[in-house]
Amino acid sequence: MPSSLDSSPVITAGPAAAASVFGDAIAYFDEAALLLDLDPGVRRVLTSPSRQIIFSIPFQRDSGELEVFTGYRVQYNFARGPAKGGIRFHPGVTLDEVTALAFWMTWKCAVVDLPFGGGKGGVTCDPTTLSPGELERITRRYAAELVEVVGPDKDVPAPDVGTTPQIMAWFMDTYSMHARRHSPDVVTGKPLEIGGSQGRVEATGRGVSLVALAQMRRMGIDAAGARIAIQGFGNVGSVAAAMFVAAGARVVAISDVSGAYCDERGLDVAGAIAYAQEHESLEGYRGGDRITNEALLEISCDVLVPAALEKQLHAGNADRVQAKLIVEGANGPTTPEADHRFNERGIVVIPDIVANAGGVTVSYFEWAQNRAGYAWRESEVNDRLADVLHANFETVGALAARHAVPLRTAAYMLAIDRVVRSMKARGVYA
Ligand code: NAD
Repeated sequence: MPSSLDSSPVITAGPAAAASVFGDAIAYFDEAALLLDLDPGVRRVLTSPSRQIIFSIPFQRDSGELEVFTGYRVQYNFARGPAKGGIRFHPGVTLDEVTALAFWMTWKCAVVDLPFGGGKGGVTCDPTTLSPGELERITRRYAAELVEVVGPDKDVPAPDVGTTPQIMAWFMDTYSMHARRHSPDVVTGKPLEIGGSQGRVEATGRGVSLVALAQMRRMGIDAAGARIAIQGFGNVGSVAAAMFVAAGARVVAISDVSGAYCDERGLDVAGAIAYAQEHESLEGYRGGDRITNEALLEISCDVLVPAALEKQLHAGNADRVQAKLIVEGANGPTTPEADHRFNERGIVVIPDIVANAGGVTVSYFEWAQNRAGYAWRESEVNDRLADVLHANFETVGALAARHAVPLRTAAYMLAIDRVVRSMKARGVYA
């Protein structure tokens, strides 16, 4: 079993609970494990989180009132290196959800061959109701609680839903104060001024378009004039949209929480990005015809990019999806039932652990730059990102062809095999 990199005693660990987000997440793993003929003991190890940490975060509201939130960090697996994964500030954060996200991070890091294990953390809170001062106090206490178990060689957090580069800066500062040394490499997704990487903000959307365009070439879909529909026009969706336009494609539909907007001739993506930045939403955007969010998913297009939330493509709409290719910008946008229907209907799906791995790849570059004390140019970051994603996507494609399985199963096979090889090389410390 992979040994933890630290032996602090805080902490619980155990096998996966049934009937949970984590339990569901294991379904895709098991399909690939079966094809790999995975040893049952190894499966037991890989379906058990290495470490789960739960703690209270007392903090003082601006009003002076004392409040307590719950914080989590799950360090799922250390076989390939320090744990790596974001910190989520959201009212829906639970231990089960954080464990599932840490589990996915393990395979995402492995499928693009990064020297990291998987981790994730969170605080059950609604950041939209907190002042900057309250957010800072929560972040600093969260970091202080974890100071013994995170670190550049132990566990390297990053932003996730509800957390920002500023929150990473507070985390890094708190950790550095406790460690009594400047430690930019303890978190990624930092502001550029304190060691963030060029290209990190755009990395996930850039990666989505890179793997999509590679798959379109395999499928004989000409990028010039290809019709793209994108659900979610935040960081991932808007950057991917701009990259598709740069490749000559037509973005025929976009959406955000306010609704969806389409134009068969192709939307003015730069104009939509400027509009969304100015109004903090696409609400009121007049550059296309207004349709519902549901209709966007079912629009006639070559490529559909869900880049918003989980479970958007499900048994109820899978049969109406008209895209030839689905590229999962979001984490978990397709339920297993919908995935099954897409396979039956010959719709190709590039799974989240590959499609949105651009973000963690540039996070790895950020960590490497911090450790070397040497910042790369943006073009260098982008070129290396393209190399990493293309090489590993090529391997996933070859595996899928060899075993006649969907790209998702092939991606899990590649990731599991890499983790198991590292585990075996290290042996069991007991
Ligand atoms: P974001 O908050 O910047 O954007 C999310 C977008 O989705 C917003 O435009 C929002 O209005 C829209 N949205 C929300 N509900 C919607 C709905 N019902 N219909 C249509 N649009 C809706 O978030 P992001 O960073 O772009 O992340 C999007 C997804 O990508 C998430 O699943 C996230 O976990 C995943 N992801 C992000 C990164 C990253 O680096 N940002 C990396 C890996 C995975």
